[in-house]
Amino acid sequence: MMRRLTKGMTLVVASHNQGKVREIDDLIRPYGLNAISAATLNLAEPDETGTMFASNALLKSRAAAKASGHPALADDSGLCIDALDGAPGIFSARWGGRNKDFSAAMARVARELDQRGIDMKTRPRAHFVSALTLSFPDGEDRVFEGRVFGQLVYPPRGTNGFGYDPIFVADGQTLTFGEMAAHDKHAISHRANAFKKFVATCF
Ligand code: IMP
Repeated sequence: MMRRLTKGMTLVVASHNQGKVREIDDLIRPYGLNAISAATLNLAEPDETGTMFASNALLKSRAAAKASGHPALADDSGLCIDALDGAPGIFSARWGGRNKDFSAAMARVARELDQRGIDMKTRPRAHFVSALTLSFPDGEDRVFEGRVFGQLVYPPRGTNGFGYDPIFVADGQTLTFGEMAAHDKHAISHRANAFKKFVATCF
């Protein structure tokens, strides 16, 4: 049976990304958990050497649970493009380079599709994935995965959000994630789907 997370428990958010920590903190606050970030605890950030979203998230949540002695939550996410055999996938952040330049990463998407003879006007299929993992200090872990499916557009549209948001239109929408209001994106996003599964199982 799955262990529940209960009021007053400490949960380590195994991320050094302040945006993600804030998003996770907002989500778990109503459940009375005491969230602390891996950065606050000065925990080392493991290299993401896994070959799947879930394995990379597990590397982070397991390391944080072991080092802190508390349950730890981690997330790994990215954009998968069907016609590029799932790229950039787990390399989504890395396509932005050291300067996290996602205009360049989005241009690379268009270029690589063009090299395969695919016109952006055909709105190539893509989906975002979010793997959320919860690890306990004794070695138990759980994986929750969320996805949102849609199409790519180019040139990029909108300045909201981050990463590849300006080139992604979710199925049933006309605006890109970069044009949508944050709360509208968060209602349907891959991360929201993974969070819903986590909350339904763990509280
Ligand atoms: P992570 O921090 O290793 O999970 O990197 C995820 C990368 O995937 C980010 O840097 C973004 O480029 C991309 N990504 C993940 N989720 C989203 C999203 O909701 N919108 C846009 N890009 C995203």
